[in-house]
Amino acid sequence: MLDLGQRNELIVLDAVRHAPEGTSQSEVVATSGLSRQAVSLITRRLREQGLIETDGTLAGSRGKPRTVLRVVPTARLAAGVHLDPSQIALVIVDLLGRPVAHRSLPAPTEDPAADIDRIAEALREMQATLEAEGWRTPAGATAREAMLGIGVASPGGIDVREGVVVNPPWLPGWRGVPLVARLEAATGLPAVLDKDTNAALTAENWSTGQRPEETVLYVFTGAGIGSAVSVGGRVHHGAAALAGEIGHLPTGLEGPVCGCGRRACLSQFTDVSSLLAAAAQGLPTPAEATRLPADAQPGAGDAQPGSAEAQPGPAASPSGSLEELARAAAEGDERMQGLLTAYGVALGEALRTLVGIHDPHRIVLGGPHWDTLAPHVLPAVEQSVRRDAPPEQLRLESSRLGGDVGALGAAALFLQSELSPATR
Ligand SMILES: [Zn+2]
Repeated sequence: MLDLGQRNELIVLDAVRHAPEGTSQSEVVATSGLSRQAVSLITRRLREQGLIETDGTLAGSRGKPRTVLRVVPTARLAAGVHLDPSQIALVIVDLLGRPVAHRSLPAPTEDPAADIDRIAEALREMQATLEAEGWRTPAGATAREAMLGIGVASPGGIDVREGVVVNPPWLPGWRGVPLVARLEAATGLPAVLDKDTNAALTAENWSTGQRPEETVLYVFTGAGIGSAVSVGGRVHHGAAALAGEIGHLPTGLEGPVCGCGRRACLSQFTDVSSLLAAAAQGLPTPAEATRLPADAQPGAGDAQPGSAEAQPGPAASPSGSLEELARAAAEGDERMQGLLTAYGVALGEALRTLVGIHDPHRIVLGGPHWDTLAPHVLPAVEQSVRRDAPPEQLRLESSRLGGDVGALGAAALFLQSELSPATR
């Protein structure tokens, strides 16, 4: 169906794809290092495959106008799957990583084989729906025919190279699951696996453009908290794709000893399960709701500002979801406000440490829970970060990609692995 195996073709396609507004053959020659004859030949081949188009002319600063080369975004599709502990998110995207369909399935269960079948079935249905709605590539191919493959984003505890979910703490029952092999067998499509934080940062970089020298620090707020770093659009993975496991970064705040042996770890303030447990039990802070032996629980005198003592838990205590907790905070529940403020202070302190390590140009805060958290958490985060770095040196931004960011990033990761010459 599609011959993308040729490295030089990928180099040209990559150069065109990274200029959504269009580029010229001369510019591709200049950036690719290929000869004019080679670029000309490959350009013709890519046009015949329907992947790029020529469109009008680009007025050069000098000399004659040049023909514009532009990627045809809907010439091919890719799917993205995010195994979030609270849901399975699916998207289908075009060649620029823009969503054309999305869907949400119930949370992963402790039966991975059944979950993988559910994912494969849902992807088939999404493609069939697009087909029924009349979606076609400009060359007339259906969504099923245009589909290149699948990217999967999972919480940490995975083997990226082997495509195996090894032991993510957030997915009980998913132990040693050869996810890529099983999903490929169930769908007949190639698949890649990466960590949710890396996927989310990849989506972020695709949506905002990849400035060559820019260092971006991304914070992913999901069931747990994680980070990712990219330089010039390339995400840092580390030796075993474990980079960015920041849950046990000590915050330096007051707090009990964590299960890991350190004190006042970030995850004690930010894990959603800790927050909800604290909210339900009327505990003052998430840090104090962590797994401590009963006799080691800190006394009420250790409670932090804005916490429960003065506000014994009302009957309206949220127990179900982070959204309910945030709503209670917005309606004036001081205990819930205290929990979320503590989240922001802890995250801000962790970011001060991470900024010192990575020296980013930009911090992006996102992930499935960020839109819920941001109004309550962002002021405290900003205050902490700004203690060290003035605004002109360090930009602090909220992601605009919303809750599908993991799935969008997974699809972008697949496109990157399939279409980028750097990975060949
Ligand atoms: Zn810890």
